[in-house]
Amino acid sequence: MSWQQRIDSALEQRRTNDSFRIRQVNEQGSGRYLVQNEIRYLNFSSNDYLGMSHHAEVIQAWQQGAEIYGVGSGGSGHVTGYHQAHQHCEQQLADWLGYPRALLFISGFAANQALIAALTEKSDRIIADKLSHASLLEAAMHSPAQLRRFAHNDVQSLQTLLAQPGDGQQLVITEGVFSMDGDAAPLAEIARASRDAGALLMVDDAHGIGVVGREGRGSCDQQQIKPDLLVVTFGKAFGISGAAVLCSESLADYLLQFARHLIYSTAMPPAQACALTAALQVIRRDDARRRQLQANIAHFRAGAEKLPLKLMASQTAIQPVIVGENQAAVNLASTLRERGFWLTAIRPPTVPPGTARLRVTLTASHTREDIDLLLEALYDATR
Ligand SMILES: *Cc1c(COP(=O)(O)O)cnc(C)c1O
Repeated sequence: MSWQQRIDSALEQRRTNDSFRIRQVNEQGSGRYLVQNEIRYLNFSSNDYLGMSHHAEVIQAWQQGAEIYGVGSGGSGHVTGYHQAHQHCEQQLADWLGYPRALLFISGFAANQALIAALTEKSDRIIADKLSHASLLEAAMHSPAQLRRFAHNDVQSLQTLLAQPGDGQQLVITEGVFSMDGDAAPLAEIARASRDAGALLMVDDAHGIGVVGREGRGSCDQQQIKPDLLVVTFGKAFGISGAAVLCSESLADYLLQFARHLIYSTAMPPAQACALTAALQVIRRDDARRRQLQANIAHFRAGAEKLPLKLMASQTAIQPVIVGENQAAVNLASTLRERGFWLTAIRPPTVPPGTARLRVTLTASHTREDIDLLLEALYDATR
């Protein structure tokens, strides 16, 4: 098969099973509203859980940072790209989360790839929750270590895998809140099982950080554990982008030697680090945003449970409505779109076959009325 034939056939396959992905251009899209072709939609697809993407203090911090440092970092952090703004942000993050060190990464995807690649050797085993994010599973598959997946949130299944002896080390991977189902991991039990087996524990809290825990410290604070490696990302509740890894002194020094995504990549713009620090201050002090989000989640659940909808057992901002077939999910999304709601249909391979869904994400920017309007539209579209 030639290159062109291979590419055409892969595209054709995606088209025939209704899983062809496209991007759409928005005039606006991170907050409560999404504007496309001059039409304004209520946005129930954004990960901007706390409505931080348009926060005046954060915007101002980014602008001031750009005036001080310029718009780019100028290089890898290992050469000249590590500025005071990065160091200050890392210190604030480490203080907040109670770790000796924090290291900034350009994205959560990069952080997960870097950590898994830097840590694992051929004789090791990575034991990851079956529903772990693509950035984790993909890195694990590319690593020289063996990947074993435990049944979703099933500590017994994890323990069974941990008990199988091997020559190397074991790395346990899970998430605070799962991105497609919105459910939380039993972190305390997972931490205990990992510790008992002498395994290293890595928790990716992309969807929990900022949203739950005291001062928004996330799922690990909420469940009172401290994993060896905590990955937090800033594209969701922080409303920006980027990520940080929280860990011990020695692990941080180790990553600075061996994490190739840090060494061979331009450091994030220092102005972005200024914005992250400003967002962190707001997130710590502004409990009202978290309360508003929790109230919105409760309001959606109470209303949706009265409708003939297939919901999941999620108590978080991620509220999937399971539809089943790909085309049916796409049709439901487009019916809702005609009525002014922006929701994304999530299809395999992102989720298991036969579980195509609408992924409703709630934020602190939504009002009760926004949610009531969505529930009415869902009722009309599915009855
Ligand atoms: C979004 C997400 C990531 C990727 O983070 P980015 O900063 O967007 O690259 C990683 N892990 C999980 C669980 C996520 O939901």
